[in-house]
Amino acid sequence: TTVGVVREAGEGERRVALVPKAVKSLTSRGIGVVVESGAGDRARIPDDEYIQAGATIGNAWDCEVIVKVAPPSDAEISKIPKGATLIGFLAPRNQVNCIDALSKRGVHGFAMEAIPRISRAQVMDALSSQANVAGYKAVLVAANELTRFFPMLTTAAGTVKPATVLVLGVGVAGLQALATAKRLGGRSTGYDVRPEVADQVRSVGAQWLDLGISAAGEGGYARELTEDERAQQQQRLEDAIKGFDVVITTALVPGRPAPRLVTAAAVEGMREGSVIVDLAGETGGNCELTEPGKTVTKHGVTIASPLNLPATMPEHASELYAKNVTALLDLMLDDDAALAPDFTDQILADSCVTGVPETASPPAAG
Ligand code: NAD
Repeated sequence: TTVGVVREAGEGERRVALVPKAVKSLTSRGIGVVVESGAGDRARIPDDEYIQAGATIGNAWDCEVIVKVAPPSDAEISKIPKGATLIGFLAPRNQVNCIDALSKRGVHGFAMEAIPRISRAQVMDALSSQANVAGYKAVLVAANELTRFFPMLTTAAGTVKPATVLVLGVGVAGLQALATAKRLGGRSTGYDVRPEVADQVRSVGAQWLDLGISAAGEGGYARELTEDERAQQQQRLEDAIKGFDVVITTALVPGRPAPRLVTAAAVEGMREGSVIVDLAGETGGNCELTEPGKTVTKHGVTIASPLNLPATMPEHASELYAKNVTALLDLMLDDDAALAPDFTDQILADSCVTGVPETASPPAAG
């Protein structure tokens, strides 16, 4: 088997699918790795380090398996050999054109987003590894924009109160945001529609905000709220948000636009100088006044909606992602390190979103 590590072409995408340590784990087992020159540059990984790990620098697109971070563009898809295997974020729910084009080319596309969230697949869970980066970085963005301190300070010049931080949507990113805010000395509070999250929020030393709306969905995700529930939630949040210096929103519902949690009126109710960091900008934003990709000030409140935060911390984001990718790749290899995906395995059956062989039998339950 040969694995190609391509250079990401997307603007602002600084991550790379495999780091040298992961390359070494493959080459030491006799798997050939070809790295496109400069693939690691923006993560500060020079070609040399890949060579030392046993890779060659060359045409990474011409490999049996191609590993990537972001969904491929049309130009990139045309470089993938027919029948090759592609592993990466493929946005199967959002980028239908990309999925169609990969199917037409007969590419076996494995989408990191589609890996089931079962315990056996945790080591491959790239949504989680990258959400951890985003949650952490969101707090730093907030602290940077805030006109106040995060920690409580007692100084000769007076005492400063700690910042109060509310995190709306406490999945993986939200939990990391709560923990990070606390480490910076803020007082954090978490809110979610899945009631089981309350204990997780308390376990990172944050308070739980209960608004009396429960909307657990399938597979550990939230379901979309009904019209009534949404109106109720917005009203109750409007009251709750007033007292916070920082609001970080991360609420998502798979395959749906981001739920609107923070209305314009809620923003207006916040103290001037407060900050909202909206991590849901890619699917429209959790705040009514969010402008995806921009930082704006409305009613004296700074609203930041950074896109692709994991790419702003490319070294560790790539290291974690590489571990996820190699774990998935491992599952596809037989004892001789040859590509032999077993589509009766639920992880491979679920994550393969294009080019599933017709002979593949339906996945075994479990
Ligand atoms: P996500 O990114 O899909 O959503 C973020 C959070 O937003 C979720 O907690 C969700 O409940 C919340 N949300 C959605 N709509 C909301 C609304 N209207 N109001 C308030 N909050 C709302 O979630 P995620 O980070 O991918 O995690 C989802 C779940 O999957 C979590 O329970 C997590 O523990 C679980 N998980 C399991 C595994 C595993 O077992 N392998 C791995 C990772 C995550």
